[in-house]
Amino acid sequence: MVFGFGGKKPSPVKAAPPVGAGTSSGTQAPLYGLMQDFPLTVDKILEHARVNHGFREIVTRTVEGPIIRQTYAEIYDRAKQCSSALLEDGMKMGDRIATLAWNTGRHMETWYGAMCIGGVLHTVNPRLFPEQIAWIINHAEDTHLFFDTTFLPIVEAIHSKCPTVRRYVLLTDEAHMPKETSIPNLVAYETYIAGKSRDVVWGDFDERTACGLCYTSGTTGDPKGVLYSHRSNVLHALMALQKDGLALGAGDVVLPVVPMFHANAWGITFCGPLTGASIIMPGAKMDGASIFELLDTEKVTFSAAVPTVWLMLLQHLEANSLSLPHLGRVVIGGSAVPERILRAFEENYQVEVVHAWGMTEMSPMGSLGSMTPEIVAKGRDEVVRYKLKQGRPPFGVQMKIVDDNGADVARDGKTSGHLVVRGWAVANGYFKGVGGNILDKDGFFDTGDVANICPLGFMQITDRAKDVIKSGGEWISSIDIENIAVGHPAVANAAAIGLAHPKWDERPLLIIELKPGENASREEILTFLDGKIAKWWMPDDVAFVEKIPLGATGKINKLQLRDTFKGYILPTIQAAG
Ligand code: AMP
Repeated sequence: MVFGFGGKKPSPVKAAPPVGAGTSSGTQAPLYGLMQDFPLTVDKILEHARVNHGFREIVTRTVEGPIIRQTYAEIYDRAKQCSSALLEDGMKMGDRIATLAWNTGRHMETWYGAMCIGGVLHTVNPRLFPEQIAWIINHAEDTHLFFDTTFLPIVEAIHSKCPTVRRYVLLTDEAHMPKETSIPNLVAYETYIAGKSRDVVWGDFDERTACGLCYTSGTTGDPKGVLYSHRSNVLHALMALQKDGLALGAGDVVLPVVPMFHANAWGITFCGPLTGASIIMPGAKMDGASIFELLDTEKVTFSAAVPTVWLMLLQHLEANSLSLPHLGRVVIGGSAVPERILRAFEENYQVEVVHAWGMTEMSPMGSLGSMTPEIVAKGRDEVVRYKLKQGRPPFGVQMKIVDDNGADVARDGKTSGHLVVRGWAVANGYFKGVGGNILDKDGFFDTGDVANICPLGFMQITDRAKDVIKSGGEWISSIDIENIAVGHPAVANAAAIGLAHPKWDERPLLIIELKPGENASREEILTFLDGKIAKWWMPDDVAFVEKIPLGATGKINKLQLRDTFKGYILPTIQAAG
């Protein structure tokens, strides 16, 4: 028997007195309920799947190419072997185990393999610029990095800058290992776990133990780490599964297109095994044809992705006169759902759309737009109008709108303000204390979104107070682009803003104020940025202005700029059709 941390017999968690205890009962000691009390840790989720749904499938389009089929029982066994390998490799409780990986069965094994023995599974977003990836790995002080063959060039480029990583595991077999590499301590995943013991203790530690780490750039400044706990992940899965939420069951076949490196694939890697739903892992291919093929051949009933992915699928369906006979529901979030996508799914393909809003800091579910009888009774146009809002919070999320002074505003569907949230799966602070205290005096977290809430409880995002651009569901840091642009000798000031785009939701426009007497063309500015930021961060256009407007505190007035450039047509819009 290989022991995990904490060892022998589960010790009952001694409940700390709840906050506010005793206030209504005077000084009298509370009478505790006589119910079983053991930690809410995520190993219980996969254990449940093994015992009750062990034969149900996890199907992966592998990065190597072929589609492979595993069961929950097999994933469980191999995750245990991964745990043993990590323990033998010196992993200590709380160590950060990073992945740079697509949605695959092996990623899921690593996920549970690390989490269930007290490791912190750190999903790194491979779409970031290599320098940012190295920065995040160093900030997290990852000890291990598991990665797909797709990302070999990235890891080759950054490993020498990541001194804390002492083991690299390539998520493949010996046959697909590179002939030559500069990466030290590199091993094939299949070799790493081969022959390792399945007799390893999982769980058996405090439910508040850290479990997952995901950095977000959705705010200003450097990326910030959101550190999920076992408790928050278990509670989030239960919350997300409510009937007005994801509502999954053992009869579902779920295709999470949303990556595991985006806030736990919106919880699906926990909700799947919790309910016994089959999971279809799309691997590296997310184009319309590849997604359609999986939806069709695997008879997928439920899927989740950002609008850009759905747009690509719809274009593929329309161009090839295809149908979606098996798909019942799609959850669309990460950016607002465009009406065209909503109507196409529901009216042309009879697929129900659930519009969801959330964020990395919320694990990520914040609200979902399932309909109520009052709205349905008013007819189709009203249903569409409400479905385009961001939805209602599930039990477990408290949400309200406050004004600049923190006072509640009316829930009238008109008055917009700061959207603030509170809940068991909402961040309390960022990893290593970055950003300081992030909660207000009542424990609410400011999402950086500007929204209203209507009398029926539907929240609608109307603007964004945070200074970032969201393109295809991924963040582009306007500040990073601006900081590089002002390094150009002819540039006095620079501002990047997001403009609406039919395919990507938003694309960056770079606005430049030149120094007096200086000159620089659009091409010169773009060439200057080239190689300093990821290709997909490149502004779609550069506009020159006399003076970039500044606010009272000397900061660029982005609101005014967004208003000035409201009607601006980016050259890429026509190309997107
Ligand atoms: P992330 O942390 O990357 O998941 O990003 C969270 C942010 O994405 C939110 O604070 C919103 O600004 C934006 N977002 C997510 N879902 C939606 C949605 N359905 N509609 C509009 N914005 C959204």
